[in-house]
Amino acid sequence: MTDNPFFAPWDTPFELPPFARIIPEHFPPAFDRGMAEQAAAIAAIAGSPADFANTIEALERSGGLLRRVGRVFHNLTSSATTAALDRIDRDYAPKLAAHRIKIMLDPALFARIDTLWRERDRLGLMTDQRRLLERHHLNFVRSGALLDPAQKARMAEISERLATLHTLFGQNVLHDEDEWRLVLNEAELDGLPDFARSAAAAAARERGLDGRYVITLARASVEPFLGFSARRDLRQAAYEAWAARGTHPERDNAPLIGEIVALRAEQARLLGYENFAAYRLDDTMAKTPAAAEALLSQVWEPAKRKAAAERAELAAAARADGLNEPIAPWDWRYYAEKVRQAKYAIDEAAVKPYFALDNMVEAAFAAAGHLFGLRFVERHDCPTYHPDVRAYEVRDRAGQPVGLFLHDNFARPGKRSGAWMSSYREQQSLDGEVLPVVVNNNNFSKGDPTLLSFDDAHTLFHEFGHGLHGLLSRVRYPSQSGTSVRRDFVEFPSQVFEHWLEVPETLRRYARHYRTGEPLPEALLQRLLAAANFNRGFATVEYAACAMLDLDLHSRADPGRLDIAAYEKEFVARIGMPPEIGLRHRPAHFQHLFAGGGYAAGYYAYLWAEVLDADGFAAFTEKGDPFDPALAARLQAIYRAGDTADPMELYRAFRGRAPEIAPLLKQRGLAA
Ligand SMILES: [Zn+2]
Repeated sequence: MTDNPFFAPWDTPFELPPFARIIPEHFPPAFDRGMAEQAAAIAAIAGSPADFANTIEALERSGGLLRRVGRVFHNLTSSATTAALDRIDRDYAPKLAAHRIKIMLDPALFARIDTLWRERDRLGLMTDQRRLLERHHLNFVRSGALLDPAQKARMAEISERLATLHTLFGQNVLHDEDEWRLVLNEAELDGLPDFARSAAAAAARERGLDGRYVITLARASVEPFLGFSARRDLRQAAYEAWAARGTHPERDNAPLIGEIVALRAEQARLLGYENFAAYRLDDTMAKTPAAAEALLSQVWEPAKRKAAAERAELAAAARADGLNEPIAPWDWRYYAEKVRQAKYAIDEAAVKPYFALDNMVEAAFAAAGHLFGLRFVERHDCPTYHPDVRAYEVRDRAGQPVGLFLHDNFARPGKRSGAWMSSYREQQSLDGEVLPVVVNNNNFSKGDPTLLSFDDAHTLFHEFGHGLHGLLSRVRYPSQSGTSVRRDFVEFPSQVFEHWLEVPETLRRYARHYRTGEPLPEALLQRLLAAANFNRGFATVEYAACAMLDLDLHSRADPGRLDIAAYEKEFVARIGMPPEIGLRHRPAHFQHLFAGGGYAAGYYAYLWAEVLDADGFAAFTEKGDPFDPALAARLQAIYRAGDTADPMELYRAFRGRAPEIAPLLKQRGLAA
């Protein structure tokens, strides 16, 4: 196939993929050639003696085509998938896993890395090189490089099978999210404010149901519905469909989970660990499951107490509303909204007009400008995979380009739920400076204009914080770029950036009424900030329970074929989960854990990083200036460093000391 765009250079801005010319049939041959090229490059790693350049740098240079194809493919299957792409994904996930593990288990390659690693003190390496060598060595060992041939064969088998299971898991969830819709007519919109009606009308139009209203299982659609619909029967239907994702008989994720958990435990045993959580956390900031559990247990009981107090307030509101039953999970958000209105005089529907998407994007750009000197200039000449995607060239203080930022903000069929950052090209300078191409995906309900909740605005800033981690990266080696840091550190740059949404400078300037341009009234702003801890008991419980479940599930030495439904029931009873609060992610759709391995035994990372972000932002509060230039420069060093240094060293260099937990407890309203 000579016209395959992957086999020619791209002369687009920032070498963006020429999306319009790429068809699904281009991927299989491109993957095949990418794998073959990398295998040849690895086989050619030779020369004696082994040195850093002919081994580690050669390894870093290998796989360029494969990375290029893989990035385009995985971004498309996440943001704009089709049945054809899904089929290729099922076909290639195990092939790609087999290719990767073959490299990691290559005895000749490992022997060279091992030789260098043993001599690392005598090689005269720079600090980034030394860390790169140590990380590669550790990755090979953790992949099974020290095992005997029979064990290696089993490791490879498991990796391939896991790749297939992860792919099927994610596809099942996306299928359920795309399939289900609640189609309503005008008379069934009782309680829904304008923004929710207009979003539901837009979702209906998109599905060819003009004149009707559609609620989908995208968080940005179903959560407002649960918060406002006065129809308890419809709330229950929507909640139950949302909670049932991944459990339908023809696409049931339960057997997949059982197999995934058993295979992970087996891999951990092969590598000499007691269980998967111990294996996974050995290479994190937390180091041990016990350390992560200790942090979770510090918030769990206070969070439950706070949630119980919240429930009492909701129950009173429900009784006043004529509800004579206990609060159910599909009632919580509805009565929380009522209590919030009564207690803080905050009406979500009155707040939203001040949080138009475009204004909040500008606010995020402005904060990045104020802190790090970045400027975002929209470009209209960039190819994209969907007309809703916007492209911005990012420039530094001197006006020099530092990268390209793509913003894909709206929910739509074929796009997986949640919000995430990824990239089409990573910053590195091994053979000349390569500028990053970063993408942020959100799942906001498109409206005219699109109005965000305060939570949505937080999500926007969160993903933008990850985006900055990719854009500000200044490293030499590809595998140290941007967000390639330990999983329980990667949420620090994203979460700490959320704080700049809440600084008065941002809200006063950018939270303006979309129609009148009036700033958010000062009294409303103060009430909004005062309500920051409202419902935080609920939010902490629904999150922390999932993080504990993740660690518990992955701490089993030999889980056998787990009955995940029975396990879930037993687990929530064991931890005393309040019955009116559902898990934020039930196992059957817990994509962090099962649609890939990245956050398996790692969902605690958000809370771990929150210790850092609360403590880190407190440094600015102590200075009395959220944009203190000296602190901002020290913070920027973390965004620049990628994985060139140990995360705790990076944090200490920024903060001048180790992190403390007190600001987190205060931030979550859990301080004694
Ligand atoms: Zn994140």
